[in-house]
Amino acid sequence: MTEFITVTGARENNLRDVSVRIPKRAITAFVGVSGSGKSSLVFDTIAAEAQRQLNETFSAFVRGFLPRLGQPDADLIENLSTAIVVDQKRLGGGSRSTLGTVTDINPLLRLLFSRRSVPHVGPGYRFSFNEQGMCPGCNGIGRRVQLDHSVMFDMSRSLNGGGILHRDFAVDSWYWHVWAQSGKFDNDKPFERYTDAEWQLLLWGSDEKVELAMAGKKAVKMEFEGVEAKFNRLYVNAAEEGASDRKKEVLARYTTSVRCADCGGTRLAEEPRTATVGGVTLPQVCALDLASLHAWLPTVRDRDVAPIVDEATARVGALVDMGLAYLTLDRETSTLSGGESQRIKMVRHLGSSLVDVMYVFDEPTIGLHPRDVGRMNALLHRLRDKGNTVLVVEHDTDVITQADHVVELGPRAGTAGGTVVYEGDVAGLAGSGTLTGEFLHRPVRAKESPRRPTGTLALRDATANNLRGFDLDVPLGVLVALTGVAGSGKSTLVREVLVPQHPEAVVVDQSAVATSIRSTPATWTGVMDAIRKLYAKETGVRPALFSFNSAGACPTCNGLGAVYSDLAYLDGVRSTCTDCGGRRYTEQVLALTVRGKSISDALDMTAADAVGFFTGRDIRPRLQALVDVGLGYLTLGQPLSTLSGGECQRLKLASRLHEEGTLFVLDEPTTGLHMSDCGHLLTLLDRLVDGGSSVIVVEHNLDVIAHADWVIDLGPDGGDGGGSVVFEGPPAELVHAPGSFTGEHLARHVG
Ligand code: ADP
Ligand code: ADP
Ligand code: ZN
Ligand code: ZN
Repeated sequence: MTEFITVTGARENNLRDVSVRIPKRAITAFVGVSGSGKSSLVFDTIAAEAQRQLNETFSAFVRGFLPRLGQPDADLIENLSTAIVVDQKRLGGGSRSTLGTVTDINPLLRLLFSRRSVPHVGPGYRFSFNEQGMCPGCNGIGRRVQLDHSVMFDMSRSLNGGGILHRDFAVDSWYWHVWAQSGKFDNDKPFERYTDAEWQLLLWGSDEKVELAMAGKKAVKMEFEGVEAKFNRLYVNAAEEGASDRKKEVLARYTTSVRCADCGGTRLAEEPRTATVGGVTLPQVCALDLASLHAWLPTVRDRDVAPIVDEATARVGALVDMGLAYLTLDRETSTLSGGESQRIKMVRHLGSSLVDVMYVFDEPTIGLHPRDVGRMNALLHRLRDKGNTVLVVEHDTDVITQADHVVELGPRAGTAGGTVVYEGDVAGLAGSGTLTGEFLHRPVRAKESPRRPTGTLALRDATANNLRGFDLDVPLGVLVALTGVAGSGKSTLVREVLVPQHPEAVVVDQSAVATSIRSTPATWTGVMDAIRKLYAKETGVRPALFSFNSAGACPTCNGLGAVYSDLAYLDGVRSTCTDCGGRRYTEQVLALTVRGKSISDALDMTAADAVGFFTGRDIRPRLQALVDVGLGYLTLGQPLSTLSGGECQRLKLASRLHEEGTLFVLDEPTTGLHMSDCGHLLTLLDRLVDGGSSVIVVEHNLDVIAHADWVIDLGPDGGDGGGSVVFEGPPAELVHAPGSFTGEHLARHVG
């Protein structure tokens, strides 16, 4: 008998009394256009309630330390399991956190090395860069923070001429006098003409003392400490024990991090660094890409170490299966993309022996090439088959079609959505008449008459990371798709080659747009001021009355409509202000209306509705831009901190739509977009190109690739197996390109 999670009468955000039954121990895909309410149902209702119920099970004492979670707005939610949300948030951890540490593969390798290595370093020696085995030069970090001479000094100037730029050491500062009065330097000689010995003396000082005579004071003897030595003492060494913000700022501005010369960046002390197993050292093993590591491990397996090697092989294999074969264990987790981070987190759960857990995934296919989606599906199946419930928010048809159950929200976005328009199996979805059903099996069409380029962008000697030193001419004035499996080198080409060689390029990425809790689509687009003025003019009061810091704002929430339990974190717990009931302003201000709408009603309007309401020239075009980039469903007052990466990217794009002759680079702009919205995105990109701009999109989405005028496919594989240009040309030819995984997949989907 199938058990169900039941939700009755859910009303978070735009949900309109949604009731659903979600089968347990099955995979349920939540689909629907962007803004239809998928996240509101899955994250804000189901996962939030599971978390709240879990917190309730703790003692009152423990609960005192947990955030107090409000009950989601729903009549009843029953039969939940413990939820594990595996989202796109980057894997945290400082510089000590690497792929090897977060996957727990490093401890296994250390065990292997302590049993097997030659010379044998003795039982109990730990091969860990976080403990006994760490390099003393960098404390196991592999990098060292160093004074950045190019920021600290102006080499064309002298001591007297202000050649030391940091203001603590500026001309006439106490310390400047130590150097200037030391008698060791020609105070008017530009630094660039110092001899090596003089320069080293200025940087590092000596053991001698310097007699310092200051006007009106008794002469004192001072330690002759050099500039860099002093900087290190004041800032670098001090930073380790909880530095002040000012010190951190100085540190960030005046230092760079360089590879540690003692351990060559391997983080390990001498002995563990040089001991070998099967002729390879531990650092060498950690620098192998996972595909090579997977092949190497069985070669050192014997009876003694079989359990260790087998476990390591299984974990590495799981990462390879997730399309991450190109990564290395020594990769710092802070440099991994959101999609990579999510897939690594997924693998971590595979090893878990928990059953009857509810896993919740948020677009796990982001950044994944269609070639690798099948393997991700296999992982979802494995989680289910172990007895877990899997909920996945997805737009990818290859994921949707293998789900056991589908819930579609819609029919449209925002206030035009928020209802369940389909609930059932995949077979039924196709004929259901919903937007997702309509697009599910629709063939892709490769563009037949691509635009002619108006020029070319020259990329020369592309050599960063895995790129193999090629030259590339990218056509301008057209829509270019940059494709290739994950790890093939697409981001590297953009970040390390294109941008440095062409700083005029405008990269519109998915990073967050705002740090202020007050930022909303209205403030960000600049229409808030105009709206305030309009309300003031029409109701005959001062515009300031509609400001958050005025007497007109609700004094409890200062016009936020909500109170936050912890302002330091944007994702602190948010609850509706009980004084104004979320309406943000005092009764007096709420009584002032324009065509029947209070300012609070205006902020609750979606951008799409607001375009029809605010027709003024200083408001409408900016809101229309939001609609044009597919964000018409956002309400004007929605905190920007609630936006996903894809939404942030489209918001940034909205502010630049009117530009002409710009070179735009977009990183997976279809992230978070329903198939039906992709058409709108393409219309938008076409408009940019037809308006005289050039657009390069890094994409996996076949509709976008097929619609491009020109495709550059990197590969053939990821990591060391990639880094070359496999194909350049129009999409119609890509279909026949030999050795291109992208071409292969496009061929399978064109009708
Ligand atoms: P989806 O996940 O399907 O893209 P969401 O559930 O994120 O859709 O959004 C559904 C609707 O709810 C949208 O109109 C969105 O603007 C609105 N919404 C989402 N989060 C918030 C929030 N924190 N405050 C106000 N409105 C929100
Ligand atoms: P794509 O964008 O096509 O997924 P990337 O450009 O991210 O590929 O990666 C290409 C190769 O460069 C991969 O082997 C990847 O592991 C490596 N790489 C990318 N970023 C870094 C980094 N910050 N440090 C070390 N290696 C990196
Ligand atoms: Zn070191
Ligand atoms: Zn309030």
